[in-house]
Amino acid sequence: MVSSEPPSLATAPPAPWALPPLPFASPDHPDARLQRFLEQASERLCAWLGSAASRSPLPGLSVLPEVEPQRRGLDEAALLADLQLVMDGAYNPSHPGALAHLDPPPLPASIAADLICAGLNNNLLAEELSPSLSRLERNLAAWLARQLGLGDVSGGVAASGGTLANLMALVTARHRAGLGCCSEAVVLASADAHVSLRKAVAVMGLPATALHAIPTARDGGMDVSQLDRALEALRAAGTPVIAVVATAGTTVRGAVDPLEPVAALCRRHGHWLHVDGAIGAVFALSPRHRHRVAGLEQADSITINPQKLLGITKTSSLLLLRQPGALEQAFGTGLPYMEPSWGGGHGGEWGLQGTRPADILKLWLGLRQLGLGGIEAVLDGAIQRRRVLHALLSSLPELEVRGGPCHLLAFTPRGLSAAEADSWSQTTRQQLLNHQLMLSRPLHGGRHHLKAVLGNPHTTVAELQQLHALVAASLQGIHCRSLPSPSP
Ligand SMILES: *Cc1c(COP(=O)(O)O)cnc(C)c1O
Repeated sequence: MVSSEPPSLATAPPAPWALPPLPFASPDHPDARLQRFLEQASERLCAWLGSAASRSPLPGLSVLPEVEPQRRGLDEAALLADLQLVMDGAYNPSHPGALAHLDPPPLPASIAADLICAGLNNNLLAEELSPSLSRLERNLAAWLARQLGLGDVSGGVAASGGTLANLMALVTARHRAGLGCCSEAVVLASADAHVSLRKAVAVMGLPATALHAIPTARDGGMDVSQLDRALEALRAAGTPVIAVVATAGTTVRGAVDPLEPVAALCRRHGHWLHVDGAIGAVFALSPRHRHRVAGLEQADSITINPQKLLGITKTSSLLLLRQPGALEQAFGTGLPYMEPSWGGGHGGEWGLQGTRPADILKLWLGLRQLGLGGIEAVLDGAIQRRRVLHALLSSLPELEVRGGPCHLLAFTPRGLSAAEADSWSQTTRQQLLNHQLMLSRPLHGGRHHLKAVLGNPHTTVAELQQLHALVAASLQGIHCRSLPSPSP
C-alpha cells in the first residue's frame, strides 16, 4: 500500500504491542519476578554483611563490571553477577577493625526502609508526591529538635548530608539578618571547624576570607576569649556578621566548642548561633550523654548527622531550627506548578534541594528499631571504646593523644617534624591495615596523626589491644633511628 497520507489511527500499528516488554513490575498482581529478584539481591547482601569480618575493611583494587548499558537489557542473573563485582570492591564498614571514619555498619531497619523508600519512589519536593512521608519528615524533625532542646515550635528538614545542612543554615541566618546582598558579611568558626563551611561561604558568593577562624584552646574547643575579641573588633569596624558556627564534635578529635559561653556572646551581639553537630549532636538524645554537648539547646540552628554514629544508612542528616519558619522565608519560591500545601508546607520550600528521596524513612525506622535504650547503648559503647583506647594509648609516653567528649581519638608521636610524622603515619597505617585495622591519617596542626573513630559496635577490646600493641611497636626507636621512607 503506497500512500502519501499519514496512517489513520485505525490502520496505524498498535504502538504498545510493537515495543519490547519492559522490566517494570506488574501493577496488577504481586510480580513474581520482582520478588525473586529482590530475594536474590537480599541474599547477596546478607552474605556480604555476614562475611564482613573475614574480609579486610578496605578491599584491594577489584574488577569493575562493564559500565555502559548494552543494546539488549540484562536479565536478573547477569545484573546480580555485576552487582556482586561492585560489592566485592566496596568499603566494608561492618568489619570490627573499621575504625577510620564516621561510617558505621548499617542498621537492619534502615536497610529495609531504604529498600521500601526506593520502591515507593516518592518525592519530598511536594506533599502530593509524598503525602505520608512529608508529614513523617516534618513530625520526626520536630521531635528531634525538641529532644535537642530547641523548644516547642522547633523543627527542620532532612538534607543530603551535613555539608548541605550547614550551607542551608548559613543561608537562612544570612536571610534572617538581612545580609543577602552584603559582600562584606562574615562567618566565625573555630580553626578546627569542618571544611564544609569553606564550601558554604564559596557557594554564598563570599570570598574565602569571609570565614574567620577563631583559634582553639588546648582541649580543641573554640577559644572563647578570642571569639569575644573578634566579635568586639567586628562590631567596632561595623562589619556585619552572618552567624557564629560552633562545632559539637570536631572531625579530627571530636572536640566540642564551649557552647554555653559562645551562645552567651551570640546573644549579647544579636548573632545567629549555628551548631555544627554533625558528629556530636546525637549525644543530646540520651540523658546520660547530653552533658557532652551542654548548651546545644541554645542554638538557633543545629546540623545533626544520624548517619555518622547511629547506623542510619546514608544519607541521614538534618538541619533543625528553633524557628523553622525561617527556612521557608529563606528558600520559599511559591512552587507555582504545585497544589498549595495542605499541611506543614512543601519540603521543597524548606531548603535548597528540590526533588529529594525520603531519607526520613530509614531514620524513623532505624530509631524505632533501636529505641531510646538502644540509642543510649550505641552512645555508651562508643564512649567506652574511646575510653579503653585512650587508657591503652596513654601508657605510651612517646605519644601525644588528642580526644574530646565524643568517640574520636587522634594521636601522633611527640616531637616529630612534619615529614617524620607523615612517614610514621603512613608506615603505621599500613602495618595496622595488614592486621585488618583501618585508621585514617588526618593532617592536624601541621602534622599527620592517626585517627580512630570508635563508633563501630563490632569493635571489641581485643581489636583495641592489638591496635595498641601495633602502635607501641611503631614507636620503638622512632627517635634514635631514621624513619623508613614512605612506600610509593
Ligand atoms: C561530616 C561532617 C560534616 C559534613 O557532613 P557530610 O554529611 O559529610 O556532608 C560537617 N561537619 C562536621 C563536623 C562533620 O564531621
